[in-house]
Amino acid sequence: MNEKECIEISDYLLKSLFPICRSITGNGVRETFRILGEFIDFNIKEYPTGLQCFDWKIPKEWNIKDAYIKDPDGNKIVDFQKSNIHVVNYSEAVHKKIGFDELKKKIYTLPDLPDAIPYRTSYYNKKWGFCMAHKDFLNLKQEGEYEVLIDSSLENGSLTLGECSIQGESKEEILVSSYCCHPSMVNDNLSGPIVQALLYRELKKRKKLKYSYRFVLVPETIGPIVYLSQHQEIVNNIVGGFVLTTCGGPGDFGVKRSFLGNHIVDKAVLETFREYGISFINYDFRPDGSDERQYSSPGFRIPVCTISKDKYYEYDYYHTSLDNLDFVPPENLLKTLKLYLSAIDKIESNEKYLSLSPYGEVQLGKRGLYPQTGGGQHQSALGSEHQEEDFFIKYIDEVDAICWFLFLADGSNSLFDMAERSKVPFEQLKEIANKLIDKKLITKVEM
Ligand code: ZN
Repeated sequence: MNEKECIEISDYLLKSLFPICRSITGNGVRETFRILGEFIDFNIKEYPTGLQCFDWKIPKEWNIKDAYIKDPDGNKIVDFQKSNIHVVNYSEAVHKKIGFDELKKKIYTLPDLPDAIPYRTSYYNKKWGFCMAHKDFLNLKQEGEYEVLIDSSLENGSLTLGECSIQGESKEEILVSSYCCHPSMVNDNLSGPIVQALLYRELKKRKKLKYSYRFVLVPETIGPIVYLSQHQEIVNNIVGGFVLTTCGGPGDFGVKRSFLGNHIVDKAVLETFREYGISFINYDFRPDGSDERQYSSPGFRIPVCTISKDKYYEYDYYHTSLDNLDFVPPENLLKTLKLYLSAIDKIESNEKYLSLSPYGEVQLGKRGLYPQTGGGQHQSALGSEHQEEDFFIKYIDEVDAICWFLFLADGSNSLFDMAERSKVPFEQLKEIANKLIDKKLITKVEM
């Protein structure tokens, strides 16, 4: 992986996608797909307003050109051109003069975070409204008439989503899903689709993949419902997957486990964190959060896991204008990308092995398996170019690791099982497997 290139792409995507006013439908989403399309080969699909998708119906398409509030002196005190978060997302059109008492009922602020503009939506209830910083709201004059304008349209149109696949040897698939329906906010939500595009780019370079990979980018909540309702045939091939969201903040990493809690997607992620010695907050599955709510519902039961860095709901700037480009440096997206890649590498190489010399201990000495030096720090298999302490795996003494491997190689333990039982890092077990295969001491078991 070329880290410098990944950071440059992240930086480019952050800056070009940030200003766009996105929603669950509309031209902002299409423009987002056009830009992401420079790096990920999405097939773009449009589904019409009114289409029934399970319990949901695709709403009218929303587009917006402009919005403002002018004070009694004609000054623009709220301007959509400066921040698209100022308008309640999906607001119907309005243009009129109103007094302060009526205006204040239409304004959302955050008294506890007075510098931030809150992000609000009203997708399924027809209304209009504005969001502004509480400190600016406090300065509004109570006399005179305010002019409010929202130049938006709610018309029959379509909902846009994108999907693409990378074919592996197996028709079994790993799902990599994210969403792209939030306006100018970065951790929630640009971090998800950008890491998704980078992940696609890296996996696309692989000459050999065991699993196939399905990348889906949709508006949150209604998007997976529309997608799954139109692609029910794919569900049986999906083994499990990842929902990419809020993965670039300055705070702690977190892992939201799948509803199973110990599926290979969970094991892969947890082992990755353990191996690198990176601490994280464990979030057991709950039926809230992001699109795991849809993928894991009773009709589909797809186990999905999420790596977060400042998880949704949990950080102060969540769903506000302060979740901006300063909050999420491209370097954070690279870190999360590495963790996901490491987890996927593990899923790809999670084999079972059988000892070919199972009767008593193997004599290691006569096979040259006593290494000259033991212990030591090993650089990540991801080929990290700069020395970042977070991304070093601490290998254990090699003789101990070989003994554990040979002890557990009875054909029933996968590498995940071995790593869990022995605490030998997964990557070290992989290297030992190759060595022991060379020495004809083990063989791979068909899983
Ligand atoms: Zn959100």
